[in-house]
Amino acid sequence: MSLPIEIAPGPALDADGDRVPTLPEKLAAIAADLREEYRQPHNTPWIIGFSGGKDSTLLAQLVFEMLLNLPPSQRRRPVHLVANDTLVESPVLARHLDAVLDRIGGAVGPLRLPVIVAKTVPEENETFWVNLIGRGYPSPSRVFRWCTDRMKIRPTTRYIQAQVSAAGEAILLLGVRRSESSQRRKSVERYDNGQRLNPHNSLQGCQVYKPIVELDTDEVWQVLLQSSPPWGGSHRELVTLYRNAGGAECPLVTDKSEAPSCGSASSRFGCWTCTVVEKDKSAEAFVEAGYGDLEPLLDFRDWLKALREEGGMRMANRRNGALTFVGDGRLIPGPFTLEARQLILTRLLGIQEDLDYPLIREGEIEAIKRIWAEDNLPQGGATS
Ligand code: SF4
Repeated sequence: MSLPIEIAPGPALDADGDRVPTLPEKLAAIAADLREEYRQPHNTPWIIGFSGGKDSTLLAQLVFEMLLNLPPSQRRRPVHLVANDTLVESPVLARHLDAVLDRIGGAVGPLRLPVIVAKTVPEENETFWVNLIGRGYPSPSRVFRWCTDRMKIRPTTRYIQAQVSAAGEAILLLGVRRSESSQRRKSVERYDNGQRLNPHNSLQGCQVYKPIVELDTDEVWQVLLQSSPPWGGSHRELVTLYRNAGGAECPLVTDKSEAPSCGSASSRFGCWTCTVVEKDKSAEAFVEAGYGDLEPLLDFRDWLKALREEGGMRMANRRNGALTFVGDGRLIPGPFTLEARQLILTRLLGIQEDLDYPLIREGEIEAIKRIWAEDNLPQGGATS
């Protein structure tokens, strides 16, 4: 009689038959890598690109844990934790980001961490509303996505360049992961030089470090769900946000090669005004989950998207006076007419009246009116 033999599950193997490391092994390797890089004998600052989403939250947590495991005397190099606010972020996300930044900012002193928390914003002359309502840029689309560079890349670039100027160079830590999407996989492979640090694609003096590049989404959630952030509180709100939004976040974008992921269907924690996507599924899911104050914003976004298709709302000439035609001789319409810009501002101010947070700032309205004056637009109509 043969005895039943229990076969213990063996280690997971990859396509080449090599053993796949377990999650605790991967985390230990990441921690060792972070520690080794941080203890290099120079003072180059680290800059963590922080969006408030799951990946950059995990990255910040792992960096904090590494620093906390060092004696305070060895925490020599400054670590900047930098978020970008487009000023038209989805209000639910903006609230979450501000709360987390406040919490982190309040914790770094007592924890004796050399962390500087910062938030970058577009210059007043470059905001969504100043370009759309002031200059009449049509609501962004896949073919004319003027917003990512002005509202995300330039503000972050200015911050990084300031650190490079002050310290000679900087290391940018990003929470990108190879398995995020096929587009991400290609971009990781394109810029991978086989070293821990890769030169930034466009920023001189900036090296890019991607400590969690090999983790997959389930592993990120597993770590977040089984741990608490070192700055206090819990990850519960983050989990709830993802559950309600049913999507992924818009990453911190520091480079034009990454811009296509902004406002794509796969990254839906972006601007509430984003008209690059056909439908704002994330906002729709939030409304369904009970965030009723987002409903007028969602209607406004849909209206804004439809408005750019209305011929009567667009000027024939571009801002530089030129007429542009496509191959078959069709005219490509220019900016919104002056009347359309006034209409958009009036409607925006109308929905803002019922909200307890601003959708547009006074300084932006002043900048818009300055541009209108330069464009010879009668100032009546919209009021602040
Ligand atoms: S989320 Fe949309 S509106 Fe915002 S910067 Fe990206 S593409 Fe532009």
